[in-house]
Amino acid sequence: MASIFSQIVDGEIPARVVYEDETTMAFLDANPLAPGHTLVIPKAEHERLNDLPDDLASDLYDTLHRLIPVIEGAVDAPASNVAFNNGEAAGQEVPHVHGHIIPRFEDDGGNPIHAIAG
Ligand code: C5P
Repeated sequence: MASIFSQIVDGEIPARVVYEDETTMAFLDANPLAPGHTLVIPKAEHERLNDLPDDLASDLYDTLHRLIPVIEGAVDAPASNVAFNNGEAAGQEVPHVHGHIIPRFEDDGGNPIHAIAG
């Protein structure tokens, strides 16, 4: 069974796609934590970051790098959290690598890494 994100790549499930090239894709998160919350994925299905072949890891980073300022600019955010939940115990729900770009605004809730540390 293809992952839900592979089904988005194949056009079987609708998504609000904001970027696409030969090997990567980005779409708005269906349950956004902030305006503009975007997911960036490799089109090929790999569960974890370290499962990616080098060229695809590089493509994914290039897409993230390109999109961060675009997403921040689109919602006028001064910053963003860029995060991968890498494995189930870390909160990864969809077993298809995805980076979150979560726009952040002044005084909107602090540092999520500190929240993990408790
Ligand atoms: O990192 P994690 O696996 O927890 O994140 C999965 C993300 O995928 C969630 O933020 C969820 O809202 C999003 N999602 C989506 N569209 C779907 C299924 C899940 O944007 N069809």
